[in-house]
Amino acid sequence: MKQDETALESALKAQISHDGPLSVAAFMAACLFDPEHGYYATGAGLGRDFTTSPEISQVFGELVGLWAAHEWHMIGAPDPFHLIEIGPGRGLLMEDVLRATEGYRDFRAAAEVTLVETSPVLRRMQAERLGAKAAFMNGLSEIAAGPTLLIANEFLDCLPARQFIRDGVHWRERMVGLGHDGALSFGLSGPVPLPLEAGDAGEVEVQFGLDAVVSEVSARLSGAPGRALFIDYGPPDTTPGDSLRAFCRGEQVSPLERPGACDLTVDVDFSRLKRLGVAAGLDVHGPVPQGLFLQRLGAEARMQALVRANPGRAADIHAGVQRLVEPGGMGTAFQAICLSSPGLPPPAGLEPI
Ligand code: SAH
Repeated sequence: MKQDETALESALKAQISHDGPLSVAAFMAACLFDPEHGYYATGAGLGRDFTTSPEISQVFGELVGLWAAHEWHMIGAPDPFHLIEIGPGRGLLMEDVLRATEGYRDFRAAAEVTLVETSPVLRRMQAERLGAKAAFMNGLSEIAAGPTLLIANEFLDCLPARQFIRDGVHWRERMVGLGHDGALSFGLSGPVPLPLEAGDAGEVEVQFGLDAVVSEVSARLSGAPGRALFIDYGPPDTTPGDSLRAFCRGEQVSPLERPGACDLTVDVDFSRLKRLGVAAGLDVHGPVPQGLFLQRLGAEARMQALVRANPGRAADIHAGVQRLVEPGGMGTAFQAICLSSPGLPPPAGLEPI
């Protein structure tokens, strides 16, 4: 065993030498969700290895909160309704949502807040931040049926992805195996049937977990009115090729480095998400670039109000909001998309560009 080898790395090497190479999705699933050593299961690097929008500026969660309060009226002001977040990380987004909507008494009185989180360590972190305001579930399907507003930021990007590469007339799958030196290394499978349409792409990456997410969302939203807002990064209208990236302490590293100790992430295929939503009978609005979405919701006015209340922090507040909306940066790398029960009025901020 290498000196700095992680426990998960040793386990994966043993597994591969016994059973053969793993798909990129199986490798990613082990690195992120292995119950003992997975990155999210242990929660070790959250807040250290990457920074999410709610961590950059409170304005992000506040605007999402105001969006939710507005959309509650658009879905008929149901009382009670489920306010659900999937993948809450450290719990900052829901904290900002709840703080920003304190004055919207009817909305808040009607809201039953549920956090969908699989990691026990992260659940503890979220419970400390939110106290008794939220219930916890392992999956969306465990939450009782009923009207719903669902939010998820940087959740879809951690759904494991398989990668396929065109090789002449065949397709091959990228696998994680062992190199001659016994280290983890990428390789290609023998020819495999391609499980989806690829057009003339030379390489495609597919998150099959998106199908399950959309079918759970559509099961909820077809029985009662509701909306699901997803914000994540990825191209608005093309299928990613190889976007697998790893982050450790703010640095991008090789995806094979220190399994379980680094965050692994892929681009979300918003075009496919949209197709899946429409095929499931939902109305889909967006994707719209995050910067435009936040500006349409009033990022500028919210920022000015914050600056007036905290003049000593004006530069920081400006810089944070600027980072969230900047074209060429997070403002265009991230997209917002909304899946709604059919027949509702269009949601705020997601009008076509
Ligand atoms: N939303 C947070 C960061 C998300 S990090 C923010 O904006 O700061 C990804 C989160 O999704 C983590 O909380 C992780 O534990 C959770 N997660 C990943 N897969 C999940 C799944 N299948 N079900 C529920 N939660 C999941």
